[in-house]
Amino acid sequence: MLKSSIRWKFISVYFLLVFVAMIIVGVFITKEFESYYLNKSRLDLQTISLNSIKKFLPENNLYENRENIQTHLINIPMQFGYEAFIIDPNRDYEIIASTKNIFINKSAIKNLNEIAILKSANNEIYEVDITDKKDNNSKVKHMAIPYLNKSNEVIGIIYTKANLKDIYEILKNSRTIFLKGTLVALFITIILGFVMSTSITKPINEVTKIAEKMAKGDFDQRVNVNSNDEIGQLADMFNILTSKLKLTLDEISSEKEKLDVIISSMADGLIAVDGDANIIHYNPSFLRMLNLKEGHMQLDYDKLMLKFSDKLTYKSIKELNTHKGSGIIEFKSGKALKATYTTLRKGEKEASGLVLVLQDITENRRLELMRREFVANVSHELKTPITTIKSYTETLLDGALEEEELAKNFLNVINGESDRMARLVRDLLQLSHMDNKKLNWNFEKVNLHHIVIDVLKKLDLKIKEKNQKLEYEYTKKMVYVNGDKDKLEQVVLNLVTNAIKYTPENGEINLKLYTKNSKGIFAVKDNGMGIPKESLGRIFERFYRVDKARSRDLGGTGLGLSIVKHIIDEHKGKIAVRSKVSEGSEFKILLPLI
Ligand code: ADP
Repeated sequence: MLKSSIRWKFISVYFLLVFVAMIIVGVFITKEFESYYLNKSRLDLQTISLNSIKKFLPENNLYENRENIQTHLINIPMQFGYEAFIIDPNRDYEIIASTKNIFINKSAIKNLNEIAILKSANNEIYEVDITDKKDNNSKVKHMAIPYLNKSNEVIGIIYTKANLKDIYEILKNSRTIFLKGTLVALFITIILGFVMSTSITKPINEVTKIAEKMAKGDFDQRVNVNSNDEIGQLADMFNILTSKLKLTLDEISSEKEKLDVIISSMADGLIAVDGDANIIHYNPSFLRMLNLKEGHMQLDYDKLMLKFSDKLTYKSIKELNTHKGSGIIEFKSGKALKATYTTLRKGEKEASGLVLVLQDITENRRLELMRREFVANVSHELKTPITTIKSYTETLLDGALEEEELAKNFLNVINGESDRMARLVRDLLQLSHMDNKKLNWNFEKVNLHHIVIDVLKKLDLKIKEKNQKLEYEYTKKMVYVNGDKDKLEQVVLNLVTNAIKYTPENGEINLKLYTKNSKGIFAVKDNGMGIPKESLGRIFERFYRVDKARSRDLGGTGLGLSIVKHIIDEHKGKIAVRSKVSEGSEFKILLPLI
């Protein structure tokens, strides 16, 4: 389309210009020709009249010498179409001699131009071009020159005529030749114009085609123009432009890809909204955090957000007229999300969009709650023995010290409470060290059986006190694990102590040490009070106790199992518990064998 339009515009303008130029040149040349020939014929007539004829005319009596004049006249060499007449004004303008015999003795007034004759009779040189309608409109130049005697009286008129028919014939022929030449030149220029326009439009057309392909996303196209002219330079520039554009687009798309990967792999949920609350972008975490499906995202943002919070809709955020802000989305399950938003603004105008990021703060909240509970628990655990110690000390100071037996009992209580406080502080310190990774772990090859035996020795007295029946069944193979001997001893000690504590007198405790699936397993089973199902998941929490009062009476701190769990985790082992209220419990630790 471009090709043909430029080409034909070019050709038509070219054609018009050449045509007009040729016409102007043609008209100009023929006009010049015409005036040249008219001038020439005037000069010819003047020369004939003044040089050739005047010479032989007698000073007087033209009429009497007419035969002589006639003889001279016809002998004058004259071009074809030229005629000469000698007129006697005193004889009623009779033609007394002529190059054409038939006019002799005829009236000049009737046969020649009257005005010219009368003017020259009045002593004026007169010249006139007359169109001869009979003779194909050819022009005839008439010239009448007065002939004077010595007294300056007009005694004759030299009348000459030049038929310009030949000249006009020549002019006509030259016009025809010129026209033909013009047509040939036009034809040649059209072909030239076509070739030239093609040489211009072809590369432009190629550039256009390639630009069209580029518009469709194909940037591997190159224009092949081998000329060094402006078109060649244009093509080179176009190629440079194409490669730069490709490079820039590649960079942009790789940046976009990077950004997409970052956004879609973000743990935080992200959503972007435009000025009409339409969702422009969101990541998988957003769907996951709000338990949404792709289908929900067809809704507009406000309708979607209303399901979770009416404070986080685009409408309400816009009304606040703030740039940044945040809100909390709470779920019945306890899950909590923190939504931080930033409104998009063009200049100082009102919000033109929104970017909202969701952060799961459930865990943070749980930890915060735990921290507060922990502080409350520690304070409470310490308060009880301190109160007891304080009141017993006061009683002693108030006089009970005097009664030895009572004082001894009181001091025993104080001592017990101090022990309890010491145990509590010890356990807390140990947990704190474990939390802060300050504890020194001394990993070595440990024989689990030896640990169990050592622990049993320590607890022998307690078992006997409660008259419990303890059985220890162990594999003959040595059970070696990579562990910290002291810490594992504490694990076994805590588990067996709990079994003793939470099993009534005369109860049964079964210990088992065996291997299975390359794990060393130590199990402590009792037929004690058991643990309710709902508490099973919580007994490893710090200060969690099924029955606080009983645990405290039995000297527990509520930290034993959490220490056990910590130590087993550090050994990359596992701990499992099975229990039924009033039937008993079974704790199992599984440690990787060496
Ligand atoms: P405590 O110092 O109170 O024993 P632990 O962390 O050792 O703290 O145990 C947490 C709670 O788990 C105990 O208070 C008790 O309610 C329960 N528990 C632990 N071992 C047993 C068991 N063998 N039988 C019944 N309950 C147990």
